[in-house]
Amino acid sequence: MTQDNKLDGFPRAQFMSGPTPLERLDRLSSELGIDLWLKRDDLTGLGFGGNKTRQLEFYFGDALQQGADTILITGAVQSNFVRSAAAASAKLGMQSVLQLEERVPEMGQEYYSSGNVMLAKILGAEHMSYPEGEDEAGADAALHARADELKAEGRTPYVIHLGLNHPPLGALGYVFAGQELCQQMPDFDAVVVPSGSGATHGGLLTGLALAENSSSVYGVCVRRDSEKQKARMDTVLQKVADLLGIDAAPLRDRINVLDDALAPGYGKVSGMTRAALEKMARTEGIFLDPVYTAKTFAGLLHLVSTGEIQPGQKVVMLHTGGLPALFGYQNELVDDLT
Ligand SMILES: *Cc1c(COP(=O)(O)O)cnc(C)c1O
Repeated sequence: MTQDNKLDGFPRAQFMSGPTPLERLDRLSSELGIDLWLKRDDLTGLGFGGNKTRQLEFYFGDALQQGADTILITGAVQSNFVRSAAAASAKLGMQSVLQLEERVPEMGQEYYSSGNVMLAKILGAEHMSYPEGEDEAGADAALHARADELKAEGRTPYVIHLGLNHPPLGALGYVFAGQELCQQMPDFDAVVVPSGSGATHGGLLTGLALAENSSSVYGVCVRRDSEKQKARMDTVLQKVADLLGIDAAPLRDRINVLDDALAPGYGKVSGMTRAALEKMARTEGIFLDPVYTAKTFAGLLHLVSTGEIQPGQKVVMLHTGGLPALFGYQNELVDDLT
């Protein structure tokens, strides 16, 4: 699988300044009895960083090639993707339109004003809202309606879609990240990643396959249960394989998703989430975010406790960022704030 693929043929904007650090977590390693490493994709640089920086290099590469001047994108109210897209637009002198969806019920006022929401306002993005949180086709259609208005005003809009009926260009960023990781450390036994849209999980898995690395890839469900996520990953991997002109079957055989840390649902903080977030902070001095990476670490702890990850194994957890959301979730994370 090494040579024949189209990976280098895609237009790419440059937002990364180089490989992200891979750090050993010494105290957690001895506590858990494994050899634990953290791939610091929270440190990707652009506008507070995170995994979306790698993904956006390919969407913006495509947008620039099409002569776009305005980016439209949709996500949860505390979406890191839309905030990162606003930062990328600023860097390239483009406008951005962010659509925020009601995906997480019963949140307090800070959820709507702090964290990513505040950062996107500083970045000068235009905001619109969408009343549903589980309607990918409808959310994409609303973006297109706004894009049509912008076209009528003489602008050249580019829509970054949520739905799977569009090529998952962002996953290409994680195909490269998988190869980067294998160069930094070729001999790990397992890697644990969050699995949301699946661009990160699917891209990384493909990158490892292209590097002929056969370690276990665990996708921790952060959005939907493992049955639904498995089906989604089947589609994502097929689409990534189609982009690259490679065979999807060996990739799909490696899908491994777990939803033990998902409850009570997307963007909701459980005691397990909070305990994982505090453990990382209090043992290593590193912050995780409440929506994705704390759940990913909770999933990793679960894999260790069940013996699925075995003592002494070399394990990499991917830190995908998301730190601004800490401030949008302040009352879910700390009891005695006032
Ligand atoms: C979006 C996001 C994820 C999920 O990545 P996908 O590629 O959508 O699966 C994980 N972590 C953080 C911090 C994110 O912002």
